[in-house]
Amino acid sequence: MQRTIRQVIHARRQLEGGGFQVRRPLPAAGMRTVDPILLIDEMGPVDYRPGEAVGAPDHPHRGFETVTYMLAGEFEHRDSAGHAGRINPGDVQWMTAGRGVVHSEMPSAQIMRDGGLVHGFQIWVNLPARLKMTAPRYQEIDAARIPEARSADGLARVRVIAGEALGVTARIDTHTPFVYLHWILQPGAAVQQPLAADHNGLLYVFQGEIEAAGTALKDGQMGVLGAGDTIAFTVPETATGETHMLLLGGVPLNEPVVQHGPFVMNTEAEISQAIRDYQMGRMGQIQHS
Ligand code: MN
Repeated sequence: MQRTIRQVIHARRQLEGGGFQVRRPLPAAGMRTVDPILLIDEMGPVDYRPGEAVGAPDHPHRGFETVTYMLAGEFEHRDSAGHAGRINPGDVQWMTAGRGVVHSEMPSAQIMRDGGLVHGFQIWVNLPARLKMTAPRYQEIDAARIPEARSADGLARVRVIAGEALGVTARIDTHTPFVYLHWILQPGAAVQQPLAADHNGLLYVFQGEIEAAGTALKDGQMGVLGAGDTIAFTVPETATGETHMLLLGGVPLNEPVVQHGPFVMNTEAEISQAIRDYQMGRMGQIQHS
């Protein structure tokens, strides 16, 4: 059964963290989550001049996962669990905050000093109640190790970050079933992508345009998918240039979501506990060299 687009949402431009520019399709007015997806931030694209770049210095997280996917520029992540990693263009870092980390996400020293183009995504994936206090975990996949596939006619290419597409399976292990696909589409491309009936799903176009089930989605628009087990999308023959789109989906948790900034739990009491634990230093500290 073909899925339809049941709602179209326009991403809003806003400032996040230490003041970096994002386009944010989720959450939106009237749409708090697409369960289990809590947030989608498109970072930039922004071309910083020397000394202008900004990031998100030390801040806590508990109860969910942050997934960072860079397209241009590099970010350096550090946290209180002793982890430090550099995310280069095309790389993915899938961080399970679980019971809590203090996190720092800054553009590379070179971008901080010399400026440069920064473009990427960070999405937040909720954890089920039984995993909210799990140990922090990192999965880092270099660009070269992210599986890719191409359609027989060569007009559609997909980077498979989570889930499966065009017969290719992702390397990332997810706590609950999740699909994260980056589609790169030429004019005239036509794709039929299975998305299991028990998944919620969405499309987010961040360059160019597509048409899915009679609905057009343009740059900066998210389409929330209706029920079904397949989504078909095409790029008009008349389109100019490449289209880039994320297809995200997951099995809904169907649990209460109580969020206080960087803490996402199931009850107010758990949020109060998270704030206390952070204030008491129980999420640790980043050792800055
Ligand atoms: Mn963070």
